Amino acid sequence: MKTSAAQPITQSGPIKIGVSACLVGQEVRYNGSHKRSRYIDDILSQHFELMPLCPEVGIGMSIPRPPIHLITTDTEPGIYNNIEAVLVKDHSVSFTKELKEYAKNQAEKLIDASGYIFMHKSPSCGYQPVKLYHKNGMPLDKTQGIYAAEIERLLPLMPKEDAGRINDPQIRENFLSRVMAYSDWQKNVQANLTKKSLTDFHVRYKYKLMSHHIQSYQELGRIVSNLKSKPLEEIAQDYITMFMQALKHMANRNKHTNVLQHLQGYLKKDLSTESKHELGEVFTQYRKGYVPLIVPLTLLNHHVQTHTDSEHYLQQQKYLKPHPFELSLLNAI
Ligand code: SF4
Repeated sequence: MKTSAAQPITQSGPIKIGVSACLVGQEVRYNGSHKRSRYIDDILSQHFELMPLCPEVGIGMSIPRPPIHLITTDTEPGIYNNIEAVLVKDHSVSFTKELKEYAKNQAEKLIDASGYIFMHKSPSCGYQPVKLYHKNGMPLDKTQGIYAAEIERLLPLMPKEDAGRINDPQIRENFLSRVMAYSDWQKNVQANLTKKSLTDFHVRYKYKLMSHHIQSYQELGRIVSNLKSKPLEEIAQDYITMFMQALKHMANRNKHTNVLQHLQGYLKKDLSTESKHELGEVFTQYRKGYVPLIVPLTLLNHHVQTHTDSEHYLQQQKYLKPHPFELSLLNAI
């Protein structure tokens, strides 16, 4: 099973995010402890429906339990066809098949989730590099946890992040931007795929895309301008695959400044000379790193609200309001 652009989704209500259960305080780790993240458990839980999952407990392992790690017999760097999750103290006891099977079952339930936060370094859940050992016990390389890798294979479009990395404000903002955009796609395009729903989605994300990766912005524009080239389901699949890749590119101050200036251009007939000057000053302060993105964006939003109505092209731009204001994600970038 893989998510596809044409797969029906009936998501309504809060946006769902899968999360390693130990990150929300569940005492499910091998030693009976948890790894509660205050940010995930206290803040994100207020805005998203978290779906806690522990694959090791899910396959029937006890709490506490002997620890497992990842081993391989492959030795060619970077090419590991045979990775096993085994007991650290007894390599003959493997949980690989069970963890993959559990991932397959959970992927069915995660079909309408819009993101996943994995516990870092875990041989089951680790999304970013997890230690890989040679069968003889020597450290060999880094890889993904068995369960996380299988979820990635089965739900490739769904945004995923590592709980350790999410403490970085840039990475956090990028991840939650992707979650919000993917949820929008699931609800408004995947659930009702038409030429209009796809084109409207592209219009909403034009400047968001531009702030992340200008080449993808241009290429995606070409895709939506030629909706007769092949079946719409195939076009939508190509579109969302490239779109989600594009948002993985980090926006930076220069890219944001470029987008802010583009958006200001739509208001040039509406703004007084003083207001244009003030915006220019604030954009420069932002580009130079003196103020965070929330400052120019708030001022620009003020002018957009003052001079346009709710149907206006500018007000549709997700760039101006990419995620819930209360998350304060733009205050630190
Ligand atoms: S890292 Fe994953 S497998 Fe390990 S305790 Fe946390 S949820 Fe369970």
